[in-house]
Amino acid sequence: MKKETLLLHAGRDPKKNYGIVNPPVYHCSTVTFPTLAALEASQASPLGVVHYGRYGTPTTYAFEQGVAALEGAPKCVSAPSGLAAISIAMLAMLKAGDHALITDNAYFPLRKLCNDMLGGFGIEVTFYDPMVGAGIKDLIRPKTKVVWVESPGSQTFEVQDIPAIAKAAHAAGAVVIMDNTWSAGYYFDAFEHGVDISVQAATKYIVGHSDAMLGTVTTTEALWEKVKWTAVRLGYCAGPDDCYLGLRGLRTLATRLARHQETALFLARWLATRPEVERVLHPALASCPGHDIWKRDFTGSSGLFGVVLKEFPKAAVAAMLDGMEHFAMGYSWGGFESLIVPTYPPKVRSATRWPHAGPSIRIHAGLEDPEDLKQDIAAGLKRLVAAA
Ligand SMILES: *Cc1c(COP(=O)(O)O)cnc(C)c1O
Repeated sequence: MKKETLLLHAGRDPKKNYGIVNPPVYHCSTVTFPTLAALEASQASPLGVVHYGRYGTPTTYAFEQGVAALEGAPKCVSAPSGLAAISIAMLAMLKAGDHALITDNAYFPLRKLCNDMLGGFGIEVTFYDPMVGAGIKDLIRPKTKVVWVESPGSQTFEVQDIPAIAKAAHAAGAVVIMDNTWSAGYYFDAFEHGVDISVQAATKYIVGHSDAMLGTVTTTEALWEKVKWTAVRLGYCAGPDDCYLGLRGLRTLATRLARHQETALFLARWLATRPEVERVLHPALASCPGHDIWKRDFTGSSGLFGVVLKEFPKAAVAAMLDGMEHFAMGYSWGGFESLIVPTYPPKVRSATRWPHAGPSIRIHAGLEDPEDLKQDIAAGLKRLVAAA
């Protein structure tokens, strides 16, 4: 079965549900047991069964099955947000005295988690150049337990050589954790490329309609139990209605992504020809660092990309952004709507120097008519120049 078909079936079974297409939503705290023996059996082995609301419900498990199918992995643990999924993965694999290597273009709140909290727990972190490739070998210490990758990275979109990084990490006994949100787990097969744990903000493309917070930690069979216990110990559980929305999102994911991809490419290629633009950071364009790796390892591109403008003052950027008609200013991308926000790459990296002086923006191409979006940006660029 091709993935597009698989996504329509994963995590649902109409035969077990009166023939109804979608599974029901179970709202649950207490699970009651008929006998003391049944209660004790559930207590002895509570993972993956219906034991207590926080451990998971049939709705939670259906969503997790769907995401595991999407990512081509055996197991998934859902979380109440993408950032919760990140912290579950980190805390599952790290303890006091351990060291982690984190890509310099990682989602900024992960940097804050490392710097503001994990340090206090005795976990040391080093940020590394996303383009390091096999050179990661020289940064791995005896205590390195996690190598964190995000590809393409937040804000700056470098594409990482994950197979080379995974080879070095595994040789040293470290696990590779990936933030796979950009590809939605659809355009990049993390587990085929050596990743051990793939984290997603399901908030983004999987939910797809900007109406729920949801995270996923997808794992190999071997790591699942540790990840699941960590989520249980921390008390993280995703809400049933949100899991339902995530599961529903999976049904249209492939179709939505194809349109996000097409429109983003259309806009990115056009922006690359504009005189106001210094550089377009879209993995499918040669101007993006790691473009050749993207061509080798990815099967497509999603709707999110970056644009570095020539040098314009902040007031000119404000004039551009304030007047947009179709692009809204907001952070959580992956919904049907187009978004545009300024980004500040020099402020969110420490291991590498950002080479551009001009302002940067991040665009999420939504599902609107592509020509409407192009006209909107064209008018914005006119305001940018006029206000400079
Ligand atoms: C948004 C995002 C997250 C966090 O997801 P939330 O659901 O907002 O907590 C994590 N990683 C990446 C790459 C993201 O874009």
